Amino acid sequence: GEVIVTDDLWKTYVMGEQEVHALRGVNLRIRHNEYVAIMGPSGSGKSTFMNLIGCLDSPTQGRYWLNGHDVSQLDDDELARIRNKEIGFVFQTFNLLARATALHNVELPLIYNGTPAAERIERAKQVLESVGLGTRMEHKPNEMSGGQRQRVAIARALVNSPSIILADEPTGNLDSKTGDEIMALLDELHARGNTIVLVTHEPDIADFAHRIVTIRDGQIASDNESSRVR
Ligand code: ADP
Ligand code: ADP
Repeated sequence: GEVIVTDDLWKTYVMGEQEVHALRGVNLRIRHNEYVAIMGPSGSGKSTFMNLIGCLDSPTQGRYWLNGHDVSQLDDDELARIRNKEIGFVFQTFNLLARATALHNVELPLIYNGTPAAERIERAKQVLESVGLGTRMEHKPNEMSGGQRQRVAIARALVNSPSIILADEPTGNLDSKTGDEIMALLDELHARGNTIVLVTHEPDIADFAHRIVTIRDGQIASDNESSRVR
């Protein structure tokens, strides 16, 4: 089935007298288990689009169906609930709690949705093991390498079994060898059945995906198979 369907999605930011049309009628469909890279120059609307499909923000106009549910007109609380359940975020800067262990960082989404402690710990341990961090669960971020921190962030993204993994420049703060290890892990998650949407400036990273969508001036400029598939 289709995980993401957008119909004529617009986002306009109003700043005083000025209006910025960051998205100008985006139509996109992403099916279950697709692996899509979103590319485009700085300021083209990639972050705005990710914020909308990640349920961090609502469109000014148009519709967005996530797993068949129209989420384009929900209030902030409803969006937050759906986001926690359906979206796993991975950021360039990892966004981990500095004072918390890897295990606690991964438990956080489960604390938020009220999962009982025993189940939380079991589930968090299981995903940490699945990303190769079985022996690092009690370490804090500053006791880990960049690659290990990003694995913790990926485990946190996976812990609720989300419909989509949204990765925004996931290798941006990593050296190229560590970046390749993280891309190999995303490959593995894709092979396990996850749907992945990746934002990147780097063509080499985009080529890990199977489909590359380019945004320019708030519109989809191209939508093609990656060279990996071709
Ligand atoms: P990208 O991620 O491709 O760099 P963005 O989605 O961040 O692009 O930005 C698209 C356009 O919208 C840019 O002109 C940017 O300045 C503007 N923009 C983004 N976020 C905001 C905001 N919160 N308020 C006002 N303008 C914004
Ligand atoms: P990134 O593209 O690295 O994710 P941001 O989304 O923070 O970074 O910003 C992307 C673009 O949107 C930048 O050009 C930034 O200036 C612009 N932008 C972000 N937030 C705002 C805002 N509140 N007001 C105006 N412009 C913004």
